[in-house]
Amino acid sequence: MSNNKIVHFTSDEKRALLFNIKNTLEISEEEFDNSWWPLVSNVWTQFNSCKLNNGDSWKVFTCRFTKHRESSTRKENIPIKKRRTAMIRPANICHAKIKVIRMTSKKLIQIERYNNTPDHTHTLIASDRLKRSTAVRTLVMQEAIKNYPPGAIVKAVKEYANNELDLGESVKDLKRKEVANIKYKLHGPLETHLVGNIELESDILETISYLKNQEYYCERYYISQKSTYGIVFAHPKQLKKLHQYGWLTLIDSTHKTNKHDWHSDTIAEALKIILNICKNWIPGYVLMDQSNIEANSIKKVFPGLKAGENESSILL
Ligand SMILES: [Zn+2]
Repeated sequence: MSNNKIVHFTSDEKRALLFNIKNTLEISEEEFDNSWWPLVSNVWTQFNSCKLNNGDSWKVFTCRFTKHRESSTRKENIPIKKRRTAMIRPANICHAKIKVIRMTSKKLIQIERYNNTPDHTHTLIASDRLKRSTAVRTLVMQEAIKNYPPGAIVKAVKEYANNELDLGESVKDLKRKEVANIKYKLHGPLETHLVGNIELESDILETISYLKNQEYYCERYYISQKSTYGIVFAHPKQLKKLHQYGWLTLIDSTHKTNKHDWHSDTIAEALKIILNICKNWIPGYVLMDQSNIEANSIKKVFPGLKAGENESSILL
């Protein structure tokens, strides 16, 4: 800048400037490489380039939505069920192009619209959906390396992008699936045996938030000595029923679903939580399966109940 005035652009402003080139921009090589191009690297794809004798060079980039090559034709002998479903973009839907001139001697980059090419036929957000920028991918990778569930990574990335990097627009509709894919690439197939667990964790978090939205009481607990955990949820209407009719309590577990090896301690803890939120629950009779785990957990929480006794009974 000739008058030594330093102009600060936000990331979203930089993105807008490089998306729709109106006037020729001049940016220092270092700034361009580090803080401008990574923001829009997803929008543009190299079209052609030229190296000059003095060390300078230029590259022409075309919008990723421009399809300058015919898409590969589908092999006809593949059965319909085995075919990949692919989004087929209509050919040549956007013709925007830019020219990036690298003036190595001056350590400057000049960016201009290429040969009066037209504006984009779509929004910048559409480009972001097609492919995420290097800046966003780096951000996701920084979080993904910490190896927590994709849903939580999406949340952290969005918060950080919004609050610290004014990059909110680029991550606006970042999807859990996209993050999961990046995460998978990062941690690789070594952890495929854990993928189920990662999914389970995010499924649990989603379930809890859904239940809470539906006004359920919901509590997650952990039994450290057994390394087991559980979720207790109850709707206020159900608790009212338990209060009124809990003298006859039916406890039922689904056969052969104890995959997570829940012990009576784990079930007892769940019963204690329920008792804690429904203090008037006084079971006189408990109908249950012929299961030691159930029986032991009930005895732990309601020591007054004994099988076969008249006053309060466990009925098998
Ligand atoms: Zn375009």
